[in-house]
Amino acid sequence: MKYCSACGSPVTLEIPAGDNRERHCCKPCGAIHYENPKLVLGTVTVWEDKVLLCKRAIEPRYGYWTLPAGFMENGESTGEGAARETREEAGAQIDLGALYSIIDVPHVHQVHLFFHARLLNLHFEPGTESLEARLFSEDEIPWQSIAFRTVEQTLRWYFEDRRTGNFPLRSSAIRYEARKR
Ligand SMILES: [Zn+2]
Repeated sequence: MKYCSACGSPVTLEIPAGDNRERHCCKPCGAIHYENPKLVLGTVTVWEDKVLLCKRAIEPRYGYWTLPAGFMENGESTGEGAARETREEAGAQIDLGALYSIIDVPHVHQVHLFFHARLLNLHFEPGTESLEARLFSEDEIPWQSIAFRTVEQTLRWYFEDRRTGNFPLRSSAIRYEARKR
């Protein structure tokens, strides 16, 4: 951030009185601009033994497959956001279930939440952010072309838990790790 979103003056990075970390501060108007992690909301939407994935039409990870997911918007609940993203990215009508996984991704300042969901009919189609929306059985999952590690982790948990029919709330943290070539 270079300029104050409240008054347009240049901001400086400093530790405000009583705080313990640097914030973007605006001297002229006194605003302190806090930045906190963002929530990414998505669903594990299923039809019979298949899971709904979308092929991304946008960067990052253009052309890779993902569970429908996106950033939470102001004024919505986490479940509403997950259902909205599923509608927008896959054109899918769903019955939203319980929260299934919560994964911290501290190096990109995000927390990813995935909910269970059941597809209500087969009239889904890719939205503007997707090239394709498709149902995959476990042995069809394109593991080498999954867009994000949180999605891969959630899918692995899902297929593991499906064997027992028990779906406890899953959680973990993904730490930064340089991509191996
Ligand atoms: Zn200001």
